[in-house]
Amino acid sequence: MNMGETTKKRESGGPFKRCSLCGAEWQTRDEFLADKTLKLNGYQGSLRRLRLGEMARGLLLFTHKAPGCGTTLALEAKRFKDESAEA
Ligand SMILES: [Zn+2]
Repeated sequence: MNMGETTKKRESGGPFKRCSLCGAEWQTRDEFLADKTLKLNGYQGSLRRLRLGEMARGLLLFTHKAPGCGTTLALEAKRFKDESAEA
């Protein structure tokens, strides 16, 4: 076996999120939030507050309404905070 790839996680350049079922990838937080095939199912708070980086905890649940998919994706809210903090 010749495994040329490494599984090392990149600090930057990797996708923000990857769908575990259909393999779709979103490169950035903004791209993820703008995708019309993703429907936010619930969150204990508001997305507006999340964008401001005020919410550091909790999970956001999205349904991926793409053809052949329909799975639920969970993201830690702190990931959104981290992204915005670096900007
Ligand atoms: Zn999907």
